[in-house]
Amino acid sequence: MKDFLHTMLQGQPPQETSGENAELTWQWLADGVLLLEPKVVADDIKHVLMSAGVHGNETAPIEILSRHVNRLLNGEMPLAVRLLVVLGNPDAIRAGVRYQSVDLNRLFHGHHRHYPACSETQRAIELENIVETFFADTSTERFHFDLHTAIRESFHLRFGLLPQKTLASDDFLHGLIGMGLEALVINPIPGGTFSYYTHAALQVQSCTLELGKVRPFGENDLSQFAAADRALECFICGEAFSADMLAPVKVYQVVRELKKLSDDFHFIDVSDNAKNFTCFTQGTLIAQDGDVMYRVERANEWLIFPNAGVKTGLRAGLMLAEADLDALM
Ligand SMILES: [Zn+2]
Repeated sequence: MKDFLHTMLQGQPPQETSGENAELTWQWLADGVLLLEPKVVADDIKHVLMSAGVHGNETAPIEILSRHVNRLLNGEMPLAVRLLVVLGNPDAIRAGVRYQSVDLNRLFHGHHRHYPACSETQRAIELENIVETFFADTSTERFHFDLHTAIRESFHLRFGLLPQKTLASDDFLHGLIGMGLEALVINPIPGGTFSYYTHAALQVQSCTLELGKVRPFGENDLSQFAAADRALECFICGEAFSADMLAPVKVYQVVRELKKLSDDFHFIDVSDNAKNFTCFTQGTLIAQDGDVMYRVERANEWLIFPNAGVKTGLRAGLMLAEADLDALM
């Protein structure tokens, strides 16, 4: 296999489903899932899951990740970690859509059981099994980077969502900052995202990364993604992050989930095109759902992912308060 993304887009497994070069062995484990392992394994080797395309139309991270995989396969880049690469929703990627029946990033950690069987529920089960096997019996550091691009404009172009309240490792934090993230959002509210699952079920240090804005294949402004591109390469090769890659980062904590309880859910003082991280002051009525009012309680709160169009029972937005980096230590 020469080109990982090209092979996946064909919709057929490669002719050879495993192989090796001087540095590594690789195995095609499932549609769009590749395991790469170095031939020489250090005692402190990291186990790293990199995923993209959990939302099928978020193309830039898919392109970036696939390019790194191609360089590994072609012997052009050293591999310092055990690496599992996952293109999350191949059917949706091939169709150029976010998802087909259900948002895959709401189905992990067993949430697939609450939905009628479809390609996405099957995929969630398949990925849970593969990821569980990948991390089984590992005792050294375990990381998961789930790469996304956001739908709406944002006051912070690049940001990360952390399902854990604390970070066990400086390496992980440096990696996140090295990816050019301007903000980190601590969100320990249980949910069905891929990164919540790997953290809660498998005790992996996980992050959902929003790396810029959605564009079709080939139309991405890859300069927006240059830092993430370089940081992923550092992780794969085992290179340290240089000081000039580390910028200051804002930290927020989720204080409230805006849950859509009924079809009546609607935003009040929030415009349709409100940017992520729009700031609201105390008392502002954000949304109403029947008798339930969502009002800003603190002096200032910030809103991300407002979307009244989600299915009933899902989150229609998150309200944030400022925190500081010490909150993560
Ligand atoms: Zn996404």
